[in-house]
Amino acid sequence: MSSALSNIFSRLPVSFTHGQGVWLWDADGRRYLDALSGIGVNSLGHAHPRLVAAITEQAQRVIHVSNLYEVPQQAALAERLVALSGLSECIFTSSGSEANETALKLARYYGHQNGNPHAHVITMDSSWHGRTLATLAATGSAKAREGFEPLPAGYIQVAYNSLKAIEDAAAAEPRVNTVLLETLQGEGGIRPAEIEYLQAVRRLCDERGWLFMIDEVQSGIGRTGKWFAHQWADIRPDVMTLAKGLGGGVPIGATLMGGRAAGVFKPGSHGTTFGGNPLVCHAALTVLQTLEDDGLLESAHRVGTHLQDALRSALAGVAGVKEVRGRGLMIGIELDRACGAIVRQALEAGLLVNVTRDRVVRLLPPLILTEADADEIVARLVPTIKTFLSGASA
Ligand SMILES: *Cc1c(COP(=O)(O)O)cnc(C)c1O
Repeated sequence: MSSALSNIFSRLPVSFTHGQGVWLWDADGRRYLDALSGIGVNSLGHAHPRLVAAITEQAQRVIHVSNLYEVPQQAALAERLVALSGLSECIFTSSGSEANETALKLARYYGHQNGNPHAHVITMDSSWHGRTLATLAATGSAKAREGFEPLPAGYIQVAYNSLKAIEDAAAAEPRVNTVLLETLQGEGGIRPAEIEYLQAVRRLCDERGWLFMIDEVQSGIGRTGKWFAHQWADIRPDVMTLAKGLGGGVPIGATLMGGRAAGVFKPGSHGTTFGGNPLVCHAALTVLQTLEDDGLLESAHRVGTHLQDALRSALAGVAGVKEVRGRGLMIGIELDRACGAIVRQALEAGLLVNVTRDRVVRLLPPLILTEADADEIVARLVPTIKTFLSGASA
């Protein structure tokens, strides 16, 4: 690895020259089944002909124009996302962190407009919202925050899936005006929010006049079989953030607002240079259209259920495997011990996965995954897990 690169990632010793569908190839011509899709980014897999054509065509016309001008691709994408979510307006960003940063700025701005200039935001233990200072303050990972203090004030972490924890925090801090959570915690180990909990948080936010913000950066855009994972609970947040899978690989995020959060930002109160340029918006529109035309939401649910069932039955009774869980193609396999070494062992078996929260093997395959591909994941992963568990000490 080049010493010219800042040493912030512990990278695996492999680089990929190209991909096709769910497969990636390295420089030696070895192929790998990509069950991680760039951490939930390559929703259409690699080199999808429609996405390649759309990006090529847009690049030939115009890649970037400033937000000082009208950007029709951006307006079209906003209208599409508004229609899919039931929210009413959209700001585009270039990453998930920036989408959440925008949401957190909105919580402050909303507070200032409503006689609460020191607005506090309740977030969850084990949550992940990004690496900027405010999103780090919101993130429930002490390890990620360590060394970056003082972080912006006004963030309170509480236990996930506990309405009482939110009520208790608000009883101790009357300036709370926002709850921010993930419908399925991704970095937090593929932990789902319970349906009744999500509905109860929605009701509580309505009773108190708070903003309910849902971070769908990892779980959104079809991954769980609905456009957005919170739609399984039949609720609608006031703010939703998106990124990862939205662009199929081009960097784009979005902050959507509705309800009490609509119309809060005013001309000049927020902005971005890159956010929502013609290239990324045209790509994202193509991703959404392809997901719809090819029935990939329904497929993500069906193939995801098949994959989870197959993993459960293949790992049934294997000592050291605690649980297979998730929704659609957002899947975690929790072991009873730290299992970071599995990532490299899977790589050797021609399979890309990662490990989150030390003990959870995480699968985020492309949404084009077929049942045959899912069976291939099982064939490569299950022996890897069994070998790891028989070799490693608990
Ligand atoms: C990845 C992620 C983020 C951060 O997105 P970046 O694009 O890495 O800034 C925020 N929230 C969730 C839930 C994520 O999974």
